[in-house]
Parts: sequence; C-alpha cells; structure tokens
Amino acid sequence: MKFYSTRDTKETKFESAQVIKQGLANDGGLFVPEEIPSLTKEEVLDLCKKSYPERAAYILGKFLTDYTADELLSDCTAAYCDSSFQGGAAPLKKVTDSLFSLELWHGPTAAFKDMALQIMPRLLSRALVKTGESNTALILVATSGDTGKAALEGYKDIDRIKIMVFYPVDGVSKVQKLQMATQTGSNVNVCAIKGNFDDAQNGVKKIFSDAAAKTKLLENAYVLSSANSINWGRLAPQIVYYISAYCDLLNAGEITYGESVNVCVPTGNFGNIFAAYLAKKMGLPLDKLVCASNANNVLTEFLRTGTYDRNRDFHLTMSPSMDILISSNLERLLYFSSNAEQTAGYMAELAKSGKYTVSDEIKNVIDETFVGYFADEAETADTLKKFYEKEGYLADTHTSVALSCAEKYMAETGDTKKMIVASTASPYKFASDVYKSITGKDASAETGALDDLSALTSTDITLPLRNLAEREIRFSKVIDAEDMLTEVYRFM
Ligand SMILES: *Cc1c(COP(=O)(O)O)cnc(C)c1O
Repeated sequence: MKFYSTRDTKETKFESAQVIKQGLANDGGLFVPEEIPSLTKEEVLDLCKKSYPERAAYILGKFLTDYTADELLSDCTAAYCDSSFQGGAAPLKKVTDSLFSLELWHGPTAAFKDMALQIMPRLLSRALVKTGESNTALILVATSGDTGKAALEGYKDIDRIKIMVFYPVDGVSKVQKLQMATQTGSNVNVCAIKGNFDDAQNGVKKIFSDAAAKTKLLENAYVLSSANSINWGRLAPQIVYYISAYCDLLNAGEITYGESVNVCVPTGNFGNIFAAYLAKKMGLPLDKLVCASNANNVLTEFLRTGTYDRNRDFHLTMSPSMDILISSNLERLLYFSSNAEQTAGYMAELAKSGKYTVSDEIKNVIDETFVGYFADEAETADTLKKFYEKEGYLADTHTSVALSCAEKYMAETGDTKKMIVASTASPYKFASDVYKSITGKDASAETGALDDLSALTSTDITLPLRNLAEREIRFSKVIDAEDMLTEVYRFM
C-alpha cells in the first residue's frame, strides 16, 4: 500500500513508514492511502473471536504493508495491554436499547488521544529504522492540555525518540498541569511558557522552521518530528475501534452481520469521525455518521450548507477539546469526495479568505454519509444530567455533546438504527463541569472536584487521575517564550 498527498495527482508515492516519520506532505497536503482496503464478512466474523490487540494488528496490517504482521502484533499488544488500558482498550457500554457508548478513554491519560498515541510512537520508532534514519527523533509539542500529556505517556521510554512538551503556564487546568509535571520516563521534558497557547504554538513552529537550529540539532544527531493529529500514524489506529465495536455488537447478539448501525462522534479536528468514515469505506456496515459539535459549530454549518467559514466568534466551552475553528482532517474527506486538484483549490481559498464552498456534486457525496448537529452549553449540561439520572450513565462533557446530537438526529429523522456514540474522555477529566451539570452547584477548587464527583456518584476516580496531588513533581520550570530553543538545546 502506497500513500500520496491530498494535494498531489498521485505522482509521488510513499511507503507508510516514511509517511509516519514525515507527518505532513511537502506540498502542505495530508497523506492518504492510494486505495481503501476492503473488509469482508468473513474477516469481520473472524475478528469477532479476537482480542483488541489482535484486531488492531490485523486492521493496521491492511494499511501499513511495510510493517510485518509480527511487528504490528507485538506493538499492538504492548500498546493496548491491560496495564495501560484498564477495563479493555475500547469497551462498548449499552446505555439505552439503541445507544451504545464506545469508551475510548481507559488509557493512561483518561482521554481518547491515548488510543492513537499509545501505538503511534512504536510505529515511529520502527519507521526510523525502516527509512534508514540514523538520528534520534526529537518530538516537540505545544499543548493546551490533553495532547501534551497523551504524547508524553505514549513516547516515554520509546527507543530513539525524545519528547519535549511546552504548555502555557496559566492556560491549562490544575489537573492537566499536575499530570504533566509528574510525568515519568527518561526521555521526556516538560516546560511551562510565560504566555498563552498561541505563544507556545508559535514558539514550536519557529523552531521547526529555523534552519540554523535544524543544523545544530543534526550535528548532535537529532531530527525534529511532530506528534500532530493529522499524522496518518495517529489516524490509522482510530479505524480499529469502530470495527471492534461492530464485532462487540455482534458478539453481544445486539445485531446480526450486515445490519447497519449509525455512529455519532464529538468532533474537533475531524480525525476521529474520519476514521469511522474509513471503516465504512472498507465495507463495515455503518450508515450515517453524525458529526457532533459544540457552540463552535463550523462543521455543522459546513455539512448543512456546503460552506466552510472560519470567520466567526470563537467560544470557550466546557468541551474544550472541541473548541476548534479549523478542522484539518476535513481535507481528507474533501479529497475522497472529489480529487487532489479541487482539494488543493479549496485549501488555497481557506488559507486566503478563511472560507470556501464546495460544489453541489461534492456536497451530495458528503450528504450520503454525514449529518451535522451541535449542542450548546445548556443542552450539553442538561443531557449530561439526564443520562446520569435516567440511564445511570455518567458521561463527560464531550461525550454529552455527542449524546445530545445523537438524540436530536434520531428524533428529527425517526431513524431507529442502533447508534454507537464515541465517548472521548473520562468524566473525571472534566470533573468540575460534570459535577456542576448534575448538581447545578460549583465543585471544590482544583483536584477537589474529583473527590466531589466521586462522592456524588459513588464511582471511583479514574485510576490515572487518582492521587495526582501526591505524586512527585519532576518538571516545574517556567520560561519566557523566547527561551524555548535554548531549552531544547539544554535538553538535547
Ligand atoms: C481531541 C478530542 C476530541 C476531538 O477529536 P477530533 O479527532 O479532533 O475530532 C473530542 N473529545 C476529546 C475529549 C478530545 O480529547
């Protein structure tokens, strides 16, 4: 299987190891596989008998053909082992007769980013060998919270890789700060920046485009790499859990093979829902994909009107991981709904004016699969409270956005097919807002909110978030944004 750029006419093809190492294509496009491999009924029925790591290795093997089956199985087994994912990698919980919650947050940082970031570093480590790279990869990450911690956990103690994370000193929650400050591993470094997320992000971008810095790093046997969510190495592992969920529905006797189900995904950068689309393209019996947004509903508008317009107010919501105005992975959907030339054109328009409108033809293709809904803050809180009180299901704020959108979709269309809702974070990760949604009252400050939520719901705090305040602080440095490169050299 070869890969090429969404903005290229298939002239230049790449192996998956190169694609994972490189991240972004040279023309600014995203890497896509030359064809979507198929998944037959027999294969699905066979996967039903397998464990999650085995399912993952099998599916990844269809895309990463320059990795051996043994390599993939060994990496998937290590990534999705019981000690990393308590209670299984992607358990499917029945919430109502028609709604099933696909819990993607049982990993080491209690958010769905772990599903990709536990496996991707292992794939990158092998990619360095496969591409003949003799240097150590230095991963630089600017984070507003979730991604940084998930990347640290994924890359810690991985061979031939070092990782350095920068976060805005006052721009992450107390829980997130503690999660990063107490990070273990011999190849990790964490540093707070005096400034906001953009300052951290710009600082990292500056280092990536600094030729002198690159030379100096190379002299010391380092190459820069990124853990960005548009990397194919992060997207491919996300296809697996939709197929796995379908197997689990079959195993539970909820459906028979061929019966199609719908999927609803709380969406930000369009990565998670695009993985569901790929599973459908492979032949998995999925019908509608409901794209759930919060008050930042640029995608809802796009899916309803065909116009993508990022020129709008930015809202800070209680589902911050979806507070995004540019959904990078949408470029991959445009590509599969049209071609490289048109995709490049729309992306140029987006860069220039912040908006574009797709042709009716493309819109019709997208409409066959996708529908867009959004939930505002009040709907998110009400839905969270309702599911907790009526169904005994405790959802986090992001999952609650999806539950609200799934219900709206079913009520508006009368579609009674079973619906898989992607659950992307532990309720404890957003304990204050979850507590407030249920009780209408403020929880205790800082990590006290976790105890409040535990007492209120008689549930245990998710393991990776327990006793955070008692762990050893390893990283407490706060630097000026101008000193980021110096800090990178020091770490090197
Ligand atoms: C990243 C994230 C999302 C959004 O996922 P995309 O792949 O960017 O659409 C949703 N919920 C949580 C908790 C996340 O961390």
